[in-house]
Amino acid sequence: MGEGKDKMRKHSILVIEDEEDIQQLVSYHLVKAGFFVFCADSGEEGLEVFETEKVDLVVLDLMLPGMDGVEVCRQMKQSGKQAIVPVIMLTAKGEEDDMVEGLEAGADDYVTKPFSPKVLVARIKAHLRRDDKLKSRFSPSEARLSLPRGLQIDFEKHEVVLGGEPLDLTVSEFNILGLLASKPDLVFTRQQIIDNIRGYGYEVTPRAVDVQIHGLRKKLKSAGELIETVRGVGYRFKGEAR
Ligand code: CA
Repeated sequence: MGEGKDKMRKHSILVIEDEEDIQQLVSYHLVKAGFFVFCADSGEEGLEVFETEKVDLVVLDLMLPGMDGVEVCRQMKQSGKQAIVPVIMLTAKGEEDDMVEGLEAGADDYVTKPFSPKVLVARIKAHLRRDDKLKSRFSPSEARLSLPRGLQIDFEKHEVVLGGEPLDLTVSEFNILGLLASKPDLVFTRQQIIDNIRGYGYEVTPRAVDVQIHGLRKKLKSAGELIETVRGVGYRFKGEAR
């Protein structure tokens, strides 16, 4: 299993879930996996912990009494520096619309109930590893992302290179690619993409995102297939093993 090799510093996970059984089950498995766990029974309580404690990742139930999970997520993602903390939503079957809303509110991932605690723990570890990797990748000395298929993004020079050749991308195309590629395998909704590339002096519509993606894929040639359409949700960058 490589547990020893995979040793991580003790991360803190905040679990916001009103159902006692699930809260206990999740906490039990997280503690067993070596995490420090904070529990909250409501969104309000969860936000308080989020603001006062050092939290590395949040497991957030969608259906909560009072403030719902989507609103809690939105507030967390608007909280400045803490906004980068990954949020994994717990949703029930048949809550697809809410799930999309959750992703739009900035959630990084979701797990559908009933779920296996082991799968949830594995997902949490994957997010934390990715987070650590991202932090080291974006260190000031090296603002460069090396991707599969000879693709490289240089965030300092604002340049994308494919097989050694610089590509001629528009500002929006560059920003969309940078966004998707910096979080491989995570699905971004059109709205999230818009929120991230906005602020360059013009309006972006969901349809315009599709057009940009279309143009981007063409310019990326065969590497264009790394940008996957997730039907009914949005887009993601396929993180191939390197
Ligand atoms: Ca609930």
